[in-house]
Amino acid sequence: MGQIYLDIAISVPIRRSFDYLPPRDQHQANLEQLKARLKPGTRVKVPFGNRTAVGLLIQVKSTSSFATGKIKHALEILDDVPPLPSHLHQLAVWAARYYQHPIGEATLGLLPKLLRSGHAAALSSENYWQLSELGKHFQVGDLHRAKKQQQALAVIAQQQTLAQSQLKNYGISINSMRALEKKSLVCCHQKPMMPTDYNKGMPLLSEPHLALNSEQELAIKQVKAKLTQFAPFLLSGVTGSGKTEIYLQLIDCVLQAGKQVLVLVPEIGLTPQTTNRFKQRFNCHIVVLHSGLSDKARLNNWLLAAKGHANIIIGTRSALFTPLLQPGLIIVDEEHDASFKQQEGFRYSARDLSIMRAKAENTPIVLASATPSLESFYNAAQGRFHLLRLTQRAGGAAPPRFTLLNIRGAALRAGMSEELISAIARELDNDNQVILFLNRRGFAPALLCHHCGWVAECPSCDARFTVHYQANKLRCHYCDQQQAIPSSCPECHSTALQYMGVGTERSATTLEKLFPDRQIFRIDKDTTSRKNSWHNMLEQIQRGEPAILVGTQMLAKGHHFPNVTLVAILDADTGLFSPDFRGPEKIAQLLTQVAGRAGRAKKPGQVIIQTHHHDHPILAGLINGGFENLALKLMAEREAAGLPPYSHIAMLKADAKQAEPALSFLTATRQQLADLTAANNLSNNVDVIGPLPAAIEKKSNRYHYQLLLQCSNRQVLQRLLHQLVAIMENHALAKSVRWSIDVDPMDTF
Ligand code: ADP
Ligand code: ZN
Ligand code: ZN
Repeated sequence: MGQIYLDIAISVPIRRSFDYLPPRDQHQANLEQLKARLKPGTRVKVPFGNRTAVGLLIQVKSTSSFATGKIKHALEILDDVPPLPSHLHQLAVWAARYYQHPIGEATLGLLPKLLRSGHAAALSSENYWQLSELGKHFQVGDLHRAKKQQQALAVIAQQQTLAQSQLKNYGISINSMRALEKKSLVCCHQKPMMPTDYNKGMPLLSEPHLALNSEQELAIKQVKAKLTQFAPFLLSGVTGSGKTEIYLQLIDCVLQAGKQVLVLVPEIGLTPQTTNRFKQRFNCHIVVLHSGLSDKARLNNWLLAAKGHANIIIGTRSALFTPLLQPGLIIVDEEHDASFKQQEGFRYSARDLSIMRAKAENTPIVLASATPSLESFYNAAQGRFHLLRLTQRAGGAAPPRFTLLNIRGAALRAGMSEELISAIARELDNDNQVILFLNRRGFAPALLCHHCGWVAECPSCDARFTVHYQANKLRCHYCDQQQAIPSSCPECHSTALQYMGVGTERSATTLEKLFPDRQIFRIDKDTTSRKNSWHNMLEQIQRGEPAILVGTQMLAKGHHFPNVTLVAILDADTGLFSPDFRGPEKIAQLLTQVAGRAGRAKKPGQVIIQTHHHDHPILAGLINGGFENLALKLMAEREAAGLPPYSHIAMLKADAKQAEPALSFLTATRQQLADLTAANNLSNNVDVIGPLPAAIEKKSNRYHYQLLLQCSNRQVLQRLLHQLVAIMENHALAKSVRWSIDVDPMDTF
């Protein structure tokens, strides 16, 4: 009998997989049957070191390079059907290779946590309560001695069936239900957990679609023409142009064809509004997938999608690998958003991989944004994406009017000029809402001694402490270290300590003094981290009463506040001078997105940008030509400089407790690379920059450096990286440093 070996990926930080023999109890089984059962992507339990691990089968082989006696038997085959369908498993394996990440960490990391730990891929079941035959004919009034049971019975009678997890939403205790059960008035069945709030027997549409304007109509028509094939679209539509309405009407077509839709959004926790709009429009099974769910809920939603029970799946980056039984359409909302690229560990781009997924599944895909990435514009220009444009705001809203406010030499109160303060007062008097955007949380970004010049710095980082006034804390925004605000200078003991600069907390405090009768909401990580606090604020804001919303980029993300008529950008300057080559693109996107919150409904909107650089080409370009025109200019600059998307880059990063080993590792990497390119005759194709210190060189007591590789040809870069990584992984210094590689990085500083 021939021998077979299982090539298995295990979640360890090593760029290889491991050979095993089939489990002992399968050893005598019919080899052909066993081979048929062992599909790539199947989970297999194996001994690993002195523990057992859940691995993923990569392939079945007939030879192994290890001596037969040394190869262990796998312990158990966990799946009859692999959790990921073959094409998604292959995409995961491909991505591990492309992003140069250890295959086990990458592929297993894409599965819900419970599957990773060996849990069965089965829907959890839940208790569902309903009336018994007796209960159906029972007079609720007869229970007047037990008010709670009476209420519970009335609710069950009305709802017909109610999941146990829903009881608390109706104020029903489980004790009441048990008591009713004893009286044989209700009964309880276990059923697979299903998405809630779906009304069987009601039509798919819970509210009518809006009548489309001509641009929307044209866009929809083009996607509809390709609903049964792979077709990538870039929907570039100004803020408020009705992109969401386009998603909704396309989804309708796809659902009617019996297929499922995957919607990827940047941060679901921040935009419950998006999910609500889908739920309002459709009476169907909608599930969400994001890191805020419990492991059990996440697995369950994932399985509901895989088994075809969920019609619309809305999720963040990691939802890209959710299996769908009947894939019909992928939508990537705010496709420019940096959160689609994982920034640590397996650094994959969900946006880029979503295109490959759509291709594998033969479905259309819509990438949409008011501020598309230059990569996507480039792909459209190359004819790889069909460009759909919405240049007008939907429903008659006018585009916001921009004013650049030159604040050179102007007296400022918490960063606000007198002119801006009057403009805010005017809007509030007219019962409108105002957004003040300041991308810096805390009270002040520095604490300074006026007497000797001492500045409070984090002892573990090359960074100043941020003052958090109400909390009476100095906090490092890089390592989260904190201390009490000192009452005197530790150097000269002077008490003349000053808060330098302005953060959201300080603006909000000043605004409270200027407008004591008005509602002021501070919206940043500090005020929204508690559960429901953001949700509660959103609800209050939505009531539309006059208010000031002071916040960070959280305010830029796709919100629809109909009553906001003024958006003020307190300080546009910090973003204008970034060392990152994507700096101009990012600041243009951020400013456009924030500005896009103004005047989205009936009232016209205005945007005031405070700056010391009113003649800066980015500001002038944005205001005079809009984002798309500016993007074209930025693209020409990238082309002239040979930067992405006109070339491809990868970044090697290393950090260590001392500077020396990290630097030496990258210097050795650079040398290796020079040898490799010389040997392959590629010296002219590859540029190397560095090693250079990272933007914050010392962070959490570790020293960070980076090396940037740039190449005009993606395949050449890929080949070099494979060779390079294989060599560096075994380099003597690799053990004394922490190192990683980022292919197609979003941040280069
Ligand atoms: P975007 O996603 O492009 O920022 P939205 O989809 O949020 O824009 O639309 C902005 C506003 O315009 C919403 O209130 C939406 O209901 C409205 N709207 C969209 N399409 C239409 C339309 N065809 N007619 C009337 N109002 C529309
Ligand atoms: Zn001092
Ligand atoms: Zn720190």
